[in-house]
Amino acid sequence: MVRLAKTPRFNMNNFVAVAFWRCGAAVVLLASLLACDNAGQYRLMQGETMGTYYRIQYAHNAACQPSQFAVEQLLGSFNQSLSTYIADSEVSQVNQTPAGQAVSLSKRFEVALRAASELWQDSGGAFDVTVGPLVNLWGFGPTTQLQWPPTEGQQNAAAAAVGMQQLTLQEDGTLRKQLSDTYIDLSSIAKGQAVDEVSETLLAGGCEDFLVDIGGEVRGSGVNVQQRPWRVGIEVPNSERVGAVQRVLSVADISVATSGDYRNFRQFNGQRVDHVIDPRTGKPADNAVVAVSVMHPSAMWADAYATTLMVLGTEEGLAFAEQHKLAALILTKSPSGEVVERYTAALKKHLLTQAE
Ligand code: FAD
Repeated sequence: MVRLAKTPRFNMNNFVAVAFWRCGAAVVLLASLLACDNAGQYRLMQGETMGTYYRIQYAHNAACQPSQFAVEQLLGSFNQSLSTYIADSEVSQVNQTPAGQAVSLSKRFEVALRAASELWQDSGGAFDVTVGPLVNLWGFGPTTQLQWPPTEGQQNAAAAAVGMQQLTLQEDGTLRKQLSDTYIDLSSIAKGQAVDEVSETLLAGGCEDFLVDIGGEVRGSGVNVQQRPWRVGIEVPNSERVGAVQRVLSVADISVATSGDYRNFRQFNGQRVDHVIDPRTGKPADNAVVAVSVMHPSAMWADAYATTLMVLGTEEGLAFAEQHKLAALILTKSPSGEVVERYTAALKKHLLTQAE
């Protein structure tokens, strides 16, 4: 049975809602959303998924009447495929599969893994979805480890299972692991992929004007309530200034994904460690970058590229982004604590003033 979406009333609480979710970075709802109450034709559908929020704004009309039930079914099936937080999901089952055993992947898993493999090669191993054992070891995955911070021995043991060369993915979508301990963590790419899937479903269902946001990974299609391209606010990367806007981007039929370290981090002995791991060192990425936003037609690729640039750091990340013609905004923190912006040539056309 399909039930029609309920339409929550818009209020100022929506503006600060991002503050209460555990995620590495977030986007800020802009005034266009809050104006929706007056317009009446734009609606908001929202809920929880993947340990964070989902929020879909759309122009409700005769052709576009998406069902929240259907959206949540899609997200539920997505989680059942790619969530390492669900013990019997497809990815968790693959992670438990012994070395050498062939597993036939779903199309969704295969798409994520092929993209991840391409980016792993392209980034010299900075992006690596087999980083899971290290993510878990440092306390940022679904399994917590008891002794923290981890010893060198534990780090070496976890690092031994990391590396996409341990995976063989055949043309027919069959996967084999070379080591039983290899553990795939798709957290850096799958939220974006879910945004793409929801967006494609809305387009197929007749919707043209919408903004899909899952935990800060966003795709804008068509126009907002003011009949202008969607605007997305990139948050100031400071956990004490939740909701403050650093930059506003025009998101016209494109995606933007943001990765940051200012929400999801741990501290020990006065030292801070972040949830983005540099697989080349086996340790949390240690550079001045605090947040990265990347724009790309595909939210999946934007998501993965944002994590990659977080690992590569400012100069290497900027060079990589320029080389790949990415529209990227890299925010770093100076020694005095000021936020410094660096961005690529391709980002300029998307930058708006806050008044625009
Ligand atoms: P991103 O920068 O997009 O990704 C960083 C994450 O990617 C890290 O946390 C790590 O897991 C991984 N990573 C770290 N370094 C690298 C690297 N070098 N290369 C590749 N990957 C790397 N969280 C919950 O608390 N509960 C849940 O139930 C839950 N369910 C989820 C279900 C799904 C399908 C997915 C995709 C994620 C889920 N999460 C859940 C995780 C959570 O929502 C975020 O995805 C996660 O916290 C990181 O997202 P981000 O945008 O903050 O960071």
